[in-house]
Amino acid sequence: MEDLLIEPDPVKVSSSILTEVSSHPNTVNIANVAPLLEGMCFCTFFADCTDQSFCFSGGMPAAFGEDQSGFVPLPEFLACVGNRDREETALRYGSFFSDTASGKQDMISFNHSLCFSSDDSLYVRVFMQPIQTQDGMIVWGAMIDQSRRSPDPGVHADRFGTRNDISGLPGRGRLLFETESIIHDRNVLSAALVLLDIKGFHTYNDRFGRQKGDAILKGLADMLLGKLPEGASLFHVSIDTFCVLWPHASRAQIQEFMEFIQQETAHPVMIAQEAIFATFSMSAALFPSCGSSADELLANAEITLHKMKGEKRKRYAIYTPSDKRELKEKLDFEFHLTKAIRNNREGFEMYYQPLVDVGTSKLIGAEALLRWISEENIIVHPEKVIAGLEAIGYMEDIGEWILEQGIRQCSEWLSAGVNPDFLVHINITAEDLMRPTFACTVISILRKYSMPSANLVLEITETSLIRNIATCRQNLIKLRSEGVKIALDDFGTGYSSLNYLRELPVDVIKIDRVFIEDIQRDRFNHSFISAIILLAHSISRSVFIEGIEEIEQADSISDLHADCYQGFYFGRPVAASVFEEKYFKKT
Ligand code: C2E
Ligand code: MG
Ligand code: MG
Repeated sequence: MEDLLIEPDPVKVSSSILTEVSSHPNTVNIANVAPLLEGMCFCTFFADCTDQSFCFSGGMPAAFGEDQSGFVPLPEFLACVGNRDREETALRYGSFFSDTASGKQDMISFNHSLCFSSDDSLYVRVFMQPIQTQDGMIVWGAMIDQSRRSPDPGVHADRFGTRNDISGLPGRGRLLFETESIIHDRNVLSAALVLLDIKGFHTYNDRFGRQKGDAILKGLADMLLGKLPEGASLFHVSIDTFCVLWPHASRAQIQEFMEFIQQETAHPVMIAQEAIFATFSMSAALFPSCGSSADELLANAEITLHKMKGEKRKRYAIYTPSDKRELKEKLDFEFHLTKAIRNNREGFEMYYQPLVDVGTSKLIGAEALLRWISEENIIVHPEKVIAGLEAIGYMEDIGEWILEQGIRQCSEWLSAGVNPDFLVHINITAEDLMRPTFACTVISILRKYSMPSANLVLEITETSLIRNIATCRQNLIKLRSEGVKIALDDFGTGYSSLNYLRELPVDVIKIDRVFIEDIQRDRFNHSFISAIILLAHSISRSVFIEGIEEIEQADSISDLHADCYQGFYFGRPVAASVFEEKYFKKT
């Protein structure tokens, strides 16, 4: 089969992208769809997955009010999708773009309608493929006019009957065709699609190399083939995802099958003399309760799979309509977040919460906490915002912005004459710490605002340290050698807490607020705080207690000699101007 790169209209796409794409090894994957495209292609396109916009080749009628760059935003394109499948199509494109933006490399295909006018409408099958360019991931895609497809089902089956080169299993096209045949068979009353996605498959390629990665894929496909229920068949639907098509299956049988696979994968699989521990995220869609067409069943199973991939504990589930709602809400949230960021970080603001010295009851600093005020004027709390930013790949940018805001603000306050020992505490993420250049970035921002490094405390959590302790350590050591202080946040809620105290250059321990919540009644928590303070002081670390909401909580630990308190009792996080008004104007 000849490798085929279908190029969009070169007038519309910058030549640098084209050169880069055509020289990229990923383009050979396009050969998989080449037979489908020959003579059938309606149009090709590139899409910017971060911007969520398309740049179409000549086949697409000029139905859109394109901007100067020739890019059509997703919402504008969706306006040309028929009413019946618009919502579904929005979800398919939206989730594919956000998966691609966060580094997923799978190919996808699905069908939808296009209505340009009452007498000009088509039914297209779209294929999309992420491509890595120097400037990040982009999407290459093709649309095939299904409305003019041969009505002969045999021709259809042959065209879609390509097998996966690695596993030898039939692919997505064949799955859809067979599912459609099954659900139109009068003798079949129920059926199911079960998706099995190999967790973190890209790490196998990174660790063992491409060849071994392929062997693992083939080994896992063979393992699954050996465990299929009677009457079921297996398909290879994207790089790391398999699908079981199971006619006549009941809900209970599907649950049992997914549980069985989960248990089986607790044992290693021997592949090329290597014991491989592989786990699957699994989801299922049942006919007829979860969908009435092959496309709908697969789309719904994919929605639930998307959700299961983000779950830490539960690894399988059957589709329910709430999964679609949740995904829609998530995509809407990410869409608004992206829009806000592109709009010069509209609504992003740092709030500041006072830190109070236990001995003198004086203000010694503030913790900078991120807030996002949405279009509806709702303050969205940072954990949700940060998870969204990580999903759309903007956390690095915002992380730097947070540092810059906190440092600039503290520097301004210091210049205005606040206590020269005033500390600004800034939270950082695991991703920040894992970047080898992170310490240098912090130091250059400090220099930019002429802020003494001794006024900065960076807060890290125990969980953020787990992933790559070597790079984290290097960053922390460099920062500390420059005079920046490090605080271990939410202490007591992560793992191996005491071990970190020994191994890492930490100045401050912030005991998590769960230990203070019930302090008047809970003897264990009292003893825990007492022991940690004794230990920390013996190795010259300070202890901050988070979450003091009432004076009684502070009173009940007054004999323990913590160094600093933080909590709603002393002050809630507020905007910088309010903070100034409350704490600086009086002095
Ligand atoms: P954290 O770093 O432990 O921040 C303290 C959290 O406890 C803040 O929640 C604060 O509002 C809350 N808090 C303080 N005193 C009390 C109290 O007396 N009672 C109760 N119930 N809560 C109290 P917030 O602002 O919602 O932040 C939550 C978490 O989100 C933070 O926990 C931190 O892990 C993360 N976060 C916040 N801002 C940033 C940021 O700029 N960058 C990064 N990487 N993470 C951030
Ligand atoms: Mg913190
Ligand atoms: Mg905390």
